[in-house]
Amino acid sequence: MAAMEQLHAQVRLQALHLMADRCRGDEQLRGRGLETQASRRGFEGAQGVERDRGKDFTIASSLRVPEPASYQVSFPNAVRKTSRLSAPPALEMMGPQKRRTRIMKFEELAGDVLMFVGDDHESVATAILDGEHALLIDSLGSQDDARWLRRVLCEDLRKTVRVIVATHFMSDHMAGLSLFPDALTIAHRHHRHTFLSQNRRVDAFYREPRAVFDSAMSLRWGRHELSLIHNPGKTMDHISVDVPGADLVCVGDNIVGNIVYLSKADPALIRAAIGRIRQFGRGTVVGGHMGKFSADVLDNAVRYLDRLQHRVTQLRLDFAADEADARIASIPIEACLAPPVEACAFEREWHRRNLDVVIAQSVFAFDAALAARAVQA
Ligand SMILES: [Zn+2]
Repeated sequence: MAAMEQLHAQVRLQALHLMADRCRGDEQLRGRGLETQASRRGFEGAQGVERDRGKDFTIASSLRVPEPASYQVSFPNAVRKTSRLSAPPALEMMGPQKRRTRIMKFEELAGDVLMFVGDDHESVATAILDGEHALLIDSLGSQDDARWLRRVLCEDLRKTVRVIVATHFMSDHMAGLSLFPDALTIAHRHHRHTFLSQNRRVDAFYREPRAVFDSAMSLRWGRHELSLIHNPGKTMDHISVDVPGADLVCVGDNIVGNIVYLSKADPALIRAAIGRIRQFGRGTVVGGHMGKFSADVLDNAVRYLDRLQHRVTQLRLDFAADEADARIASIPIEACLAPPVEACAFEREWHRRNLDVVIAQSVFAFDAALAARAVQA
């Protein structure tokens, strides 16, 4: 009961007037370096660990994972450069079947904002700290990744997860929900619709959210005033989490890196969702996959969507259905990304999936039909 009272004292939910809150001034707090309580104490871990030598930061967890793991740790402070820690030597000696490299990233975006990127689908979780308490935005895509997050955040950094906000209810972002049974879970009211609509549902990850909302919610957490805004796009339950105090917004899968993913989505709704994200005016955009980006990523994603739509529509106009589909299947991502954007492997993979989806779900055909009807009228 005491825990609940503590939680209620820390979580103040109130109605939010969407546009009014979007206009609040930002605190430009980037580049504050590593002056957090956690970092001053350092990661306190077991013996035999890989250490980022010369810094007050110790990675404690490597030996406790079932597979060799690499952790990439980076900090906004330029003095503390990104470091990549390889698997411990003892584990390097294991047989090749046990030597799959796991890359999981942990990055401090602000003094009290941490970003975790899991191995599975490069799913992202963001932790916002209030002293010893943490609010999580999403919780990674596999049990292994979620356990790693819990180990780093709860065991090494000694934080307690009090709240988990789901940007959307798809399994590749929900693996950790059941690992924090006491946390207050928050999602959009239509979270179940999204959960049931996905291609690769993992029912074991499902946990009924304890709080749902419809259009918007504000939540004070530490020094932050978070705005949770319903922003349907990739799915109908998508939430954008605006964190003005850290000049960032967490957007879930309304972007996938510099592209978008179209499966079962309305392209026009995705475009509108990205437009609403722009209105926050944040310098950093945290995606549901891959990690953080500069705000340019929003323009890049819309440009990709526009170019893909144009290309597909033109092919359908110029060729019979089978021939058009064959040509759509080979549209290179370079035809959709404007320079100087260069696709990474993850974006290439999801572009390939987009092409499959465009063919299988006749994406853009409706808009092309509408356009043709308008010309005839
Ligand atoms: Zn996802």
